[in-house]
Amino acid sequence: TDFSSLGLSSQIVDTLTHNGFVKPTPIQEQAIPLVLARHDLIGLAQTGTGKTAAFGLPIIEMLLAENIRVDHRTCRTLILAPTRELVNQIAANLKVFVRRSPLKIGIVVGGVSINKQQEQLTRGVDILVSTPGRLLDLIARNAISLGKVTHLVLDEADQMLDLGFIHDLRKISKMVPAKRQTLLFSATMPKAIADLAHSYLTDPKRVEV
Ligand code: AMP
Repeated sequence: TDFSSLGLSSQIVDTLTHNGFVKPTPIQEQAIPLVLARHDLIGLAQTGTGKTAAFGLPIIEMLLAENIRVDHRTCRTLILAPTRELVNQIAANLKVFVRRSPLKIGIVVGGVSINKQQEQLTRGVDILVSTPGRLLDLIARNAISLGKVTHLVLDEADQMLDLGFIHDLRKISKMVPAKRQTLLFSATMPKAIADLAHSYLTDPKRVEV
């Protein structure tokens, strides 16, 4: 199997080839066609399996196909992750994939100047990668609104629950449109994650590696 047979366009496949991505990993093989088909998805996968590309590539493909310009102080895709390190890692991965496209990626994490982040959001970003707490701070300042989100990703959902982000996730989930695609990734599937998936995902497909 190669990336083009999973439904990705030649623009993206070229970028992948250029960066040494030749063969999809198992989670990518399973997830990419389902995400492109607009299904909600539960992915059971650890870091290192290629899960960032598994959700990132099909989302980038869909955003490029829509060919719309993001409004000021909005984002089109929201990716939530538990830690600053993971947010930076996800964003670094995705930046490689959008290098030759007009898509903009924003990063929002705690522990750094909130004013700079607010500025970064002024013109809007296509993809926002964020920790839950700082995102809520920026929403409270009207720096960003989530009313235009069409794709929501919860990465390392089990970690987010362990770190006590459940209330933040509840608040955020009320601010994103009901009509959206939601992808949830987790290394484990305890009951709390199954409950979370049940309340935020619609008729999800499940993939596991
Ligand atoms: P992740 O599990 O998303 O953190 O990815 C782990 C690492 O594998 C990252 O450095 C990716 O750039 C790399 N990677 C992911 N998918 C592929 C692939 N299909 N071919 C080569 N490298 C990959």
